[in-house]
Amino acid sequence: MSLRFYDTRARTVRDFTPLHEGRVSLYLCGATVQAPPHIGHIRSGVNFDILRRWLTYRGYEVTFCRNVTDIDDKIIRVAKAEDIQWWQVSERNQRAFTWAYDTLGCLPPTVEPRATGHVPEMIELMRRLIDRGHAYPAADGSGDVYFDVRSFPDYGSLSNQRIDQMRAAADSEGERDKRDPRDFALWKGARPGEPSWRTPWGPGRPGWHLECSAMATKYLGDTFDIHGGGLDLVFPHHENELAQSRAAGDGFARYWLHNGLLTMGGEKMSKSLGNSLLIPQMVRKVRPVELRYYLGQAHYRSIIDYSDEALAEAAAAYQRIEGFLTRVAEVTGGIQPAATVPDEFALALDDDLGVSQALAVVHGHVREGNSALAEGAKERAAGIAARLRTMLDVLGLDPLSEQWAGAEDTGLREVVDALVTVALEQRQAARARKDYAAADEIRDRLGAAGILVEDTPHGPRWELKRG
Ligand SMILES: [Zn+2]
Repeated sequence: MSLRFYDTRARTVRDFTPLHEGRVSLYLCGATVQAPPHIGHIRSGVNFDILRRWLTYRGYEVTFCRNVTDIDDKIIRVAKAEDIQWWQVSERNQRAFTWAYDTLGCLPPTVEPRATGHVPEMIELMRRLIDRGHAYPAADGSGDVYFDVRSFPDYGSLSNQRIDQMRAAADSEGERDKRDPRDFALWKGARPGEPSWRTPWGPGRPGWHLECSAMATKYLGDTFDIHGGGLDLVFPHHENELAQSRAAGDGFARYWLHNGLLTMGGEKMSKSLGNSLLIPQMVRKVRPVELRYYLGQAHYRSIIDYSDEALAEAAAAYQRIEGFLTRVAEVTGGIQPAATVPDEFALALDDDLGVSQALAVVHGHVREGNSALAEGAKERAAGIAARLRTMLDVLGLDPLSEQWAGAEDTGLREVVDALVTVALEQRQAARARKDYAAADEIRDRLGAAGILVEDTPHGPRWELKRG
């Protein structure tokens, strides 16, 4: 069976064949850096990180472009409110996003272009659109440039809407000489006190949609494979990107993939709800890898309705995987990843990135591996663990990988391990002389210090209590 994805534009699952053999170009609408990210923002990053890792596993060389929108109305408002420069707001929040992506194990994109660094490309795209009769500068000289939606018969094809039923474009304040209320701003003419860049039609700043078209085609070519983003971007953002680029004569994206949103109590994340779910707060509740597991476990197109309980369940599920691998590593002295993943795992991911089915395969392996350990079948357990590492690597969740194994202070862990070993030897000695009260006291005092002792067929082992 071949790799296939649900394509929003085709409204069906389609077999995936890249434009160029062996290579995949992927564009993801990244952060609008007006505030630090909450988990709703980073879910998209995790979903597309898994897609990218799976494409790489499948042998494709992936060029992954994720942009940064570093100028918009809200960034300007925040800067005014704090009496700082707009770029201070963007810089600060871009760093928060980068930190969040890194913390959750999202591999850095191949390129991460910023909108304001691509004004010449945007001017060129506007010129092509104006020349072809698809865009016009506002006749009032405001510097606004609009896309003429009626000039493009396919307008609405991505979001499956008829133009007559569409709402007016809300992206330009104050309706400055538009021909049709649905015409959207490619460029916003300068207003007093706002940052602006010069164009042949007057000074102003980029419209959001234009940025993405200009950056996607600059780095990935006129036609590229996959365009991704959150479901809330389908209209107007992606509809407008598609219209601009096609009207200008580019092929643009061949497949459109959208991740489902993250809600809370059934509602879309708002700023007030989102504040409690900022990434630094979340990684105090659970470890980053557990948060990644939580955000990545559901199918990318499904809605995640956030709850602390579901987060705790996800963390516990991850700890079962981790516990098994740690035990095998202790028994065997180390686990090398297997060369390939099991077929059923591959089938699950090939089928529109079925991560939940793939995780079912992972947990089946953990159960089987634990039975093998209980029976003392070390070799069988080691084989299962090797396959597990390879599967988990594709999901960015391998507990023994550099990313996650190095997440704790290993130097300190060695010291603790030596101290706990001394205590455990004394406990063994107490048991040997049948002084069970002393043996239990040692275990209880370790427990009070946050160290969980477990007796296994291979002797006692310890781990730090979580949560
Ligand atoms: Zn975009």
